[in-house]
Amino acid sequence: MLGIIRIYLLHYFQSWLHIRMKPRTLQLPVTSKCNSRCVTCNIWKYKEKSDIDPIALKTVLSNPFFSRVKSVGLNGGEPFLHPEFVEVVKAVLSLKRIKHITVISNCICQEKTLKTLAEIYPLCKQKNVKLHMQISIDGVHAIHNKVRGVKISFDRSLKVIQTLKKNPGVYVDNFDLGYTISKYNVDYMVQTKEYFQNLKIPIYFHLAVPNKRIHNFNNAPFSVLTEKHATQMAKEFFYSMPIHEKKIIQKIRYTLIYLYLAGKTSKRMFICDYLYSDITINEIFDTFLCATASDKVGNLLEKIPTYKEYNSLVEPTSKHCDTCIHYANVPSLLGLYTFFIYKIKTFKHIQRYNIFS
Ligand code: SF4
Repeated sequence: MLGIIRIYLLHYFQSWLHIRMKPRTLQLPVTSKCNSRCVTCNIWKYKEKSDIDPIALKTVLSNPFFSRVKSVGLNGGEPFLHPEFVEVVKAVLSLKRIKHITVISNCICQEKTLKTLAEIYPLCKQKNVKLHMQISIDGVHAIHNKVRGVKISFDRSLKVIQTLKKNPGVYVDNFDLGYTISKYNVDYMVQTKEYFQNLKIPIYFHLAVPNKRIHNFNNAPFSVLTEKHATQMAKEFFYSMPIHEKKIIQKIRYTLIYLYLAGKTSKRMFICDYLYSDITINEIFDTFLCATASDKVGNLLEKIPTYKEYNSLVEPTSKHCDTCIHYANVPSLLGLYTFFIYKIKTFKHIQRYNIFS
């Protein structure tokens, strides 16, 4: 509870007073190489490929600017294609206050993924850092393979999922699945949810959004909002999810995503700390506020920007926040208020039409 209050206090302190704080969370796309051919991402189409340099990363992260970082997300491209991924993790573990590392992977390079996890997990444990893995799953069997553009994709990912499930505490502290909803897989969410529910593996659903980092910001034909049928399917899914969810936070989250899809919100309903605190660092050390709508704000090999410099760069990104549904995790105060008003209104509706009599 105290942790949640702290998240809200810090968020509103920095965003209301427009005060930049040292980052608590870093997003690190460590490589632009990828072995998927996803319909929602253009990163794999670019010929120029780079891997982050772990030695330079360690030097950069030793700057006092990063002294409060607690959580780091390692992604790509496909992070396990980085030839020195273990060294990258060691560089991240050199952060003084690091507590959580999350790796997002497609797990297509199944053996290398497991071998690397077996190497990095003890290093994390030694430093008392929790290692979390999120495996990208966009459907079951052929649907997943079609969205990912790789025929062997589902079988490979499933093998890693089964291995992690069978061996708790050997490769990671915990893991879950992330389903990116596009108009290509919106019809298969219930099927996928049931498939993994039977295996007792948690799966989280988030909408595919236009994203500068993966080069689709100005052209997002995959979005469910581009087709009536897809929007309706997504709405129905998120409308029904709170009924089955046990956790109140997930009930609120899914309801707010439903209201967003139904066009009943004109402001962002979730907290996002990428404007005034957290940052994204790509594989060549270019920095961005968020990975979604931010342009490059600097390069850490050239200079660590001052707070003032960062603050002058907030405005071009902030104008996208109200329509952005990325990082739809923690409801804002406005989100909580909207949820409770919605619940009261729908409760009155149930009473008025005597639905349960
Ligand atoms: S555009 Fe989205 S991800 Fe970026 S800072 Fe705004 S809310 Fe956060």
